[in-house]
Amino acid sequence: MGRYEVDTWYYSPYPAEYQSSSLYVCERCFKYMKTRDALHAHCAVCNLWHPPGDEIYRHNTEPLVASTTNPPTATTSSESYLAPDGRRALSLFEVNGKKNPVYCQNICLLAKLFLDHKTLCYDVASFYFYVLCEFDVASGYRVFGYFSKESPNTHTMSCLLVLPQHQKKRYGRLLISLAYLLARKTRFIGTPERPLSDLGYVSFLSYWTKAVCEELQATHPKGITIHDLCHRTCIRRGDVLVVLRNLGLVTASAIDAHDVCVNGGATEAKNDGVNDRDLIAAKDVSLLRHHIEQHTHPLDIEVDVQNLRWRCALPPHNLR
Ligand SMILES: [Zn+2]
Repeated sequence: MGRYEVDTWYYSPYPAEYQSSSLYVCERCFKYMKTRDALHAHCAVCNLWHPPGDEIYRHNTEPLVASTTNPPTATTSSESYLAPDGRRALSLFEVNGKKNPVYCQNICLLAKLFLDHKTLCYDVASFYFYVLCEFDVASGYRVFGYFSKESPNTHTMSCLLVLPQHQKKRYGRLLISLAYLLARKTRFIGTPERPLSDLGYVSFLSYWTKAVCEELQATHPKGITIHDLCHRTCIRRGDVLVVLRNLGLVTASAIDAHDVCVNGGATEAKNDGVNDRDLIAAKDVSLLRHHIEQHTHPLDIEVDVQNLRWRCALPPHNLR
């Protein structure tokens, strides 16, 4: 794939004639081929400049001023995309599975090679794909990962992949942050679709912990209700309670991330001894600071709503 040779981890339902020891995949459109020569011939004519959708978020470059459905012109293809400090220039594209089924099927087939629990590969019409790209002048837009969301809006995200050759850059955390940024934009209180891999759960728990601690810190010492925590972070009640239990701020024993409030969204009191309208306050603000630092990595990219140009195409589910 591109200049990378990547070992795969799981079976993916590529057509039978492509089930072999090596598969050659275009890093722009994810078309798959049997031979290196076929890949070279394809790359010479593949003109997909960026994922086939709207650029909805841009980081470390000039702020977006309009949707870029069309490929950038020559005047926008060079230095204007590079950050002044030389850091990574990133873009998120929204791709409609109904309008671009082949692209979305191809990215799903590729993702399945690296995701154990993924089942969706061909039936992509009811999904939107949010594709993260890094931009540089020499290569243009290169896909590093994506997350998907089902329509209607039932989960914060359905599936997340960072391509193996681009891992350890904290792009998984960035994709989670972007998914919750979209959720906050539509006031959708939710959770990722289950099952989560062990690594996926650790990544989400880290994000939830930091987000909840930041809200508790901002409202210290007055405190904040679970109801308001859910609404401000757009993290569902069950996930917020797991964090609060880890912090020792609620003691209900029935809380479990996998079986509490599995439908997400609801934030009223449940039969678990926790009242959503009671104020939750951390006594020790330095402990909150410690948790926030513990769940912050130097490579993390803070998302900024100012960089988002997006109108949600998904029907609202639990808009309040
Ligand atoms: Zn291609």
